[in-house]
Amino acid sequence: MREHHDHHVFLDLDEADLEDKPPSLLHKILIGLGAVFMTFLLLSYLFPLQKIGSNLISERVDDTYSLNLEDGTLIVFSENVYNLLSATYNVDDKEFKVCLKGSVDGSLITLDDYYLPKIISRTFMMVRSEACDNETIVSMHSHPSGWCYFSKQDIRSYENLKERNPEAFIGLICGVDRFNFYKE
Ligand SMILES: [Zn+2]
Repeated sequence: MREHHDHHVFLDLDEADLEDKPPSLLHKILIGLGAVFMTFLLLSYLFPLQKIGSNLISERVDDTYSLNLEDGTLIVFSENVYNLLSATYNVDDKEFKVCLKGSVDGSLITLDDYYLPKIISRTFMMVRSEACDNETIVSMHSHPSGWCYFSKQDIRSYENLKERNPEAFIGLICGVDRFNFYKE
C-alpha cells in the first residue's frame, strides 16, 4: 500500500482494510485494478466532454444513416455524406477533416452536404487545416486510433467554431460507423 500513498484518491478507500497486513498478491492485483478504475474515473471527471452523445461511442450508425444523441438530438446523414466519411476513414492512418453542412430543424439535424477544408498537415495524431466556414454545422475530424473522445485541442477548436456560428458543433469519426459529438 505504501507505494500508493502519493495517489491521494486511494487513501480513503483502501487504508482501513489494508494498513495492518502485508499486501498479498491478491491485494496488489486488486489495488492495481482499483488504480486503473480510479484513473478512468478521474479522467472521466477531468474530461467530461461527452455532453451529448456520450453513450454514442459504442453505438453504430444504423441503416437509415441516423444517430440518436443523449440529449434528444437526431443526426441524419445523407447516404452520400455517410459513405464519404466511412470510406475516407479507411483510406489511410492519418486524421482527416470534413466540414458538414445541411439543415437544423429543432432537434433534427440533417447533414447532406460537405466540403473538404484546405489541409495544412496531417498525421496519425492530428490534422491541421483551415477552419470550417460559418455555414458549417458539424466540423468533423477522425481519430484513426479508434479513441472516441475529444482532445483539449478539439474542444478549443469547438470554442472558436461556436463563436462564429452558435449552432455549430464538432464531430468525431472513430471507426467506419462510429461517431461522437460535442456541443455545450
Ligand atoms: Zn481530435
